[in-house]
Amino acid sequence: MLDASQRAVVEHRGPVLRVLGAPGTGLSTVAVEVVAQRVERGEATADGCLLLAPTRLAAARLRDAVTARLGGTTTTPLARTHQSLGFGILREAAALVGDPAPRLLSGPEQDVILGELLAGHAAGESSAPPWPESVQLALPTRTFRGELRDLLMRCVELGLDPDDLAELGREHDRPEWVAAAHVLLEYDEVTALSAPGAFDPAWILGAAADHLEDDPEALDRWRAGLRLVVVDDAQELTPAALRLLQVLVAGGGVELVLLGDPDAATQTFRGADPRLFVTTWPDAPTRLLSTSHRCGGEVLSAATRVAAHVGVVGGALHRQVTPAPQDGDVEAHLLRTAAQEATYVAGRLREAHLLHGVPWSRMAVVVRGGGRTATLRRVLRGAGVPVDTATADLPVRDEAAVRPFLTLLRCALDVVSGAEQLDPADVVDVLTSPVGGADAVQLRRLRRSLRRLELDDGGGRPSDVLLAEAVLTPFPLGRLGPEATPARRAHRVLAAAVDALRDGEGVEVVLWRMWSASGLAAPWRDTALDGGRNGGRADRDLDAVLGLFDAAARFVDRLPGASPADFLDHVLGQDVAGDTLVARAPAGESVALVTPAASAGLEWDLVVVAGVQEGVWPDLRLRGSLLGSTDLVDLVTGRGADARAARAQVRHDETRLFHVAVTRARHRLVVTAVRCEDAQPSPFLDVVDPLAQPRPFTDVARPLTLPGLVAELRRSLVDASPAVRADAVQTLARLAREQVRGADPAQWWALRDTTDDRPRRAGDLPVRVSPSTIDHFGRCGLQWVLRASGGDGPSMGAQDIGTLVHEIAHDLGDTDAAAYAAELERRWGRLGLPPGWLSRRDLARATAMTERLATYHREASVEGWRRADAEVRMKVALGRAVVSGTVDRVEVGPGGTVRIIDLKTGSSKPTKDEVRRNGQLGAYQLAIEGGAFTEHGGHSGGAALLQLGRAANRTTTLQAQVPLALDDEPRWAHDLLAVTADAMAATSFTATPGSQCGTCQVKDSCPAQPEGRQL
Ligand code: SF4
Repeated sequence: MLDASQRAVVEHRGPVLRVLGAPGTGLSTVAVEVVAQRVERGEATADGCLLLAPTRLAAARLRDAVTARLGGTTTTPLARTHQSLGFGILREAAALVGDPAPRLLSGPEQDVILGELLAGHAAGESSAPPWPESVQLALPTRTFRGELRDLLMRCVELGLDPDDLAELGREHDRPEWVAAAHVLLEYDEVTALSAPGAFDPAWILGAAADHLEDDPEALDRWRAGLRLVVVDDAQELTPAALRLLQVLVAGGGVELVLLGDPDAATQTFRGADPRLFVTTWPDAPTRLLSTSHRCGGEVLSAATRVAAHVGVVGGALHRQVTPAPQDGDVEAHLLRTAAQEATYVAGRLREAHLLHGVPWSRMAVVVRGGGRTATLRRVLRGAGVPVDTATADLPVRDEAAVRPFLTLLRCALDVVSGAEQLDPADVVDVLTSPVGGADAVQLRRLRRSLRRLELDDGGGRPSDVLLAEAVLTPFPLGRLGPEATPARRAHRVLAAAVDALRDGEGVEVVLWRMWSASGLAAPWRDTALDGGRNGGRADRDLDAVLGLFDAAARFVDRLPGASPADFLDHVLGQDVAGDTLVARAPAGESVALVTPAASAGLEWDLVVVAGVQEGVWPDLRLRGSLLGSTDLVDLVTGRGADARAARAQVRHDETRLFHVAVTRARHRLVVTAVRCEDAQPSPFLDVVDPLAQPRPFTDVARPLTLPGLVAELRRSLVDASPAVRADAVQTLARLAREQVRGADPAQWWALRDTTDDRPRRAGDLPVRVSPSTIDHFGRCGLQWVLRASGGDGPSMGAQDIGTLVHEIAHDLGDTDAAAYAAELERRWGRLGLPPGWLSRRDLARATAMTERLATYHREASVEGWRRADAEVRMKVALGRAVVSGTVDRVEVGPGGTVRIIDLKTGSSKPTKDEVRRNGQLGAYQLAIEGGAFTEHGGHSGGAALLQLGRAANRTTTLQAQVPLALDDEPRWAHDLLAVTADAMAATSFTATPGSQCGTCQVKDSCPAQPEGRQL
């Protein structure tokens, strides 16, 4: 059912009609209707109508709509892109004279040709263009080739030949254009020779227009049946598309209807110029579509405010429209971090779906940049929001599952061309990728093992180099255990690639051999079939790998002679996801995650425009800066002639994109941004939702997920209000019946019965007591039992340094500080610390420890103590306790008494009183007297802690405990040991909070701490 303004357009007859309408006024509907009604009334045949759109997607949508409307088929595609029309004209021309069908030069082909030309210049095979100094260093890079291709294609589009470009370069002091003109000439010659019948996409429209102008018969043929040309989204017309259109309709007999919105151009960075739509054919009547069928209420007001910031092209009357009958709400929200923003967006989408019944497919998230897309996609998926990946794919090279294969392929190419080592950064990337499968701890373990081997072999290379070597030549891996598994996996894949390359295989075979060697196919398939979140991820990873093979297949099809290196270059150079023929799961019911350009022409009930940050949207950087392709377009078309005007153009283009994004919403528009130290919201936020006072932060509510609900209900069980508690009980019971995890009290740890109430050590069985644990046990029994049962985390760096100092003290015996320092330096690499100031600082700390040790030796010997042994294992039964462990140092002193010294490398130390009753030292003394060191003597001369770390005073601190016999209570240590042994064998262990809790490694399992309260 058309409104009055739409009907007026459909009823209009005349050579040219221009139709302007704001988003949602039904421009595309009218475009289809104009064609349909002409055909239905018999004024034109379907084959005599041509519907043009700027992109393939838009053309496909129009084609579907017009076919459905007419219910029949036509012999030529009714709706097509401008390029497709130009290509059709050229193909017909070739067929008529018996030439081979023309084909399009793909981006990779152009890139390869330009790469060869530039390499030829560098090698002196042909005279090099006079590139200015400023771009010399960039010449071999892929980015430069991309910029050059962009500049040359803009020239082709604008109809500039090499002489024109050189002339413009000289006129406007752009030496890079003069040099590029040289390349353009060569490029034309080379493509004419090497790829006859192949056209640059940018050249098609101009070539088709030339052909029709040069060949009146061809023009007559094309115009013979043609009665009507309808151009949808005419704001996206480029000068070349316009020229072809003009040639086609010139001479009368063909009606032309142009429909568009100058405020909605999204292709300006590709040369579209909305002014062409409103200024060409100045005498043509203009009609306005005056009713919005999409946006009403606040959404329409917001859209009008945004449009007011777009420079007016062809008047602003079309911005005044009657609102749609449905209400429209607009919200703008400020979040504290990007992660919080993504969580908030996920929450809003789930709320709309679960509470308000909005189907997933009626919602979209529009984002400007790729960085935010990745975060959003991850968080949305994690929160259970199905995301339509087909509309927001990553480039193949950025897929996590594909990256390690590309890295290894690059490494293999380097190896084949003679490289003798790999880049350690690449190796670390691969080892921690799905191919290597290592986490940070495993990587560190591998580094340390390799370093140890290196030192044993008398070498001293850093662990980075050793890692890279291990993946390249697996010789050292044979001498290592399971910690080397990630490196073995990476080596297998690398070796497969190197072998295939040496066999001269093409890229498809090389990739296939790498994939087979990785052994990932079966585990990923099994995980994918298991479903769930991991299954979804595996599914996506498999899709990504399939995408890589598909990209390789298409590359080989188009460039049969190209090498694997060319493919790698091509894939790494792709900034956007390529089209793919790989069958994917249908998008079905999912939320669209799209860029503004991809959202053009579509609409959803709820649209979230996320990441509206300053510097991101609008992005006011001038484009094409290296070779000035945008400047060239602006200069030739008269847009933005100076820097200020150019910036204004960019701002208007960016505002148009934002306008397109916000006008996709039918009922609700939500705009979000982040304010934090590094990011500020864009002024667009205030345009959409003006606020008199500073915008407050929006709090993120609990996630609308089942775990979130269960957590909240469980919290409500201790609410003060009986009604709230009763409500929570009922809902939890219902969830428990539905098997929702965590809802059933039987799954609550705190309510579980003790699983085993037998004592740790039954009856009178002996209990092993390590002296060093007596004091820990005294402070907190629960901490002791949890750590003794495996609760200790991975070892910390500081402990490793302490172990090294202990080792050196033992291996070198009593020596001077210089000898200790030299040994420390020699063994330092064993710790596997990354080079840098942190490592140097730690080495200085360790050296200070050994200096204190050397000082102590001197002082002790003056007092008559001599070293009798070190690192001695001892074991002695004392009542029920079996005291066992390793002592750091045994000394024999005046009168033949024995003293045990415990080396401490930490930063805290006990007080004097604590030393008096230190259980560890007391146990050592009991062990001496109990006969643990009979070869040195049986009378205790005391025991001491030797503080070597930060806990030491300026030089050294020996914290000594007097011999038990001299203590006021000589049996204190006996009693402590007996009590401790019994308590260690008990049934239950008590959490005793204290100063040790701050560094407790088992906090998560401690009911006395918030982290472990659920227990
Ligand atoms: S957190 Fe404190 S109370 Fe709890 S186990 Fe650790 S040391 Fe004991």
